[in-house]
Amino acid sequence: MPERAAPEWYAGGLRFECTGCGECCTGPPGYVHFSDEEAQAMAARVGLTPEQFRKAYARKTSMGWSLRERKTPHGYDCVFLDRITEPGKALCKVYEDRPTQCRTFPWWPEVLASEKSWKLTARQCEGIGRGGFVPIERIRIERDRTPK
Ligand code: SF4
Repeated sequence: MPERAAPEWYAGGLRFECTGCGECCTGPPGYVHFSDEEAQAMAARVGLTPEQFRKAYARKTSMGWSLRERKTPHGYDCVFLDRITEPGKALCKVYEDRPTQCRTFPWWPEVLASEKSWKLTARQCEGIGRGGFVPIERIRIERDRTPK
């Protein structure tokens, strides 16, 4: 008989509620990769063609296209992080069309790898540990659709 995989350490669900603090959109230099479809949607949102969009807001990396960053007193902000429109807030200018990588945070496999990595991420993300329990079924869906 095939061996059954051990249940995830978070089988009982995890508490998370995003506060919109924007801390996951800044910090040390990083990558926000996106697909062609996502580029098209973000480009349309900011009124550009996908080519213009890539030129203005993205850079090519060894793993594909990534959104650019801006060095600010907070760290390397995503190019679409808006700290101006509503003082004290960090808003995403392409929120409705943000890439899957952004949508699935904090359910990334590397964050869920262990309780330790989850707690380490909680130092950056104040939404971890807040709100109600997100059930395992939902976590698995988000985890498994995170781009590799
Ligand atoms: S760091 Fe966490 S709480 Fe803050 S915006 Fe990102 S996901 Fe939401």
